[in-house]
Amino acid sequence: MSLADLLRVAPGSTPDLTAIDPAGTPGFDGDKDAARDRLKELRDELADFQERLWAEARQSLLIVLQALDAGGKDGLIRKVVTAFNPQGTRVASFGVPTDEELRHDYLWRVHAATPGKGRIAVFNRSHYEDVLVVRVNELVPEPVWRERYDQINAFEAHLAATGTRIVKLYLHISRDEQRRRFQKRLENPDKHWKWSSGDLETRSRWDDFQAAYTDALTRCSTAAAPWFVVPADAKWYRDLAAAEILAETARSMDPHWPEPEEDLSGIVIPE
Ligand code: AMP
Ligand code: MG
Repeated sequence: MSLADLLRVAPGSTPDLTAIDPAGTPGFDGDKDAARDRLKELRDELADFQERLWAEARQSLLIVLQALDAGGKDGLIRKVVTAFNPQGTRVASFGVPTDEELRHDYLWRVHAATPGKGRIAVFNRSHYEDVLVVRVNELVPEPVWRERYDQINAFEAHLAATGTRIVKLYLHISRDEQRRRFQKRLENPDKHWKWSSGDLETRSRWDDFQAAYTDALTRCSTAAAPWFVVPADAKWYRDLAAAEILAETARSMDPHWPEPEEDLSGIVIPE
C-alpha cells in the first residue's frame, strides 16, 4: 500500500480522528534526514509534472488545504507547493467572507479561483469552511449547512468531470501541538502578526471542530475528490506525506508534452 493509500479516506467510510495519531508517520519508516532526501526527489518530480501539465494545457489540479489554526497550511505551501513554477500556480486564501462575497452563494468565490487548463490552484482554506467554522459558530441555521455536503459533492464532481483533478488534504494536529505552536507564536514577536483574537475561541470548541471535520471527511471524500488525513504534528512528515500524495496524483494525471506544431527535424537555424 502506498503512503497515499494509507492516508486516503475511503469513500463512504467514517474516519475516527481520535484513532489517527497526529504524531504518527504511517507508510514511512525512515528518519527526518531520510524524509528530507525523499522530499527533494519528490519536489523535482512535481516540478517536472507541473511543466508537462502547463505544456499539455488540458487538465487542471486543485489542491484543497484544511486544518485548524496553526495546523501547518502555510508551512506546507512554503515547503512543498513551491516545487511548482509560480507561473502556472496560484494560491488562493479564503478568510472571513467580504460583504460582496456574502451577497453571493458560498461557492461563488471558490469557483472563481479554480484552476484553468494547465494550471494548479491551491486553496488555503476553502468552501469547507462553510461546513466547519460556519457550522461550529452557528453562522447559518443547521438546515442550511446540512444541505451543503451534497452541494459540495455536486460542485466537485462538476469540476472533476470538466478536467480538474482534486486532492484534499486535512492536516491533523493534536491539541497539545496546537498549544505548543500558539505558545511559540506568543513568544516570538516576529510571529505576533499570526495571532488572531479568535484563535483561542476556536480552540475552546476543539471537540465541535473534530466532529465537523469528521462529517466533512465522511460525507465529501469521493472517488472524484478524495480527502486525505495527513498526520501533521511532525512537520517533516506532513511535508513528505503531502508531496507523496501529490506525486502519486501527478503520476496518474500523466500530462504529455504536446506534439510540435510542425516537423522540426529539418529546421536549420540561420547563422
Ligand atoms: P487565517 O487562515 O488564519 O488567515 O484565518 C482566516 C479565518 O477566516 C479563519 O478564522 C477562518 O475560520 C475564517 N473563515 C474562512 N472562511 C470562512 C467562512 N466561509 N465563514 C466564516 N469564516 C471563515
Ligand atoms: Mg489564523
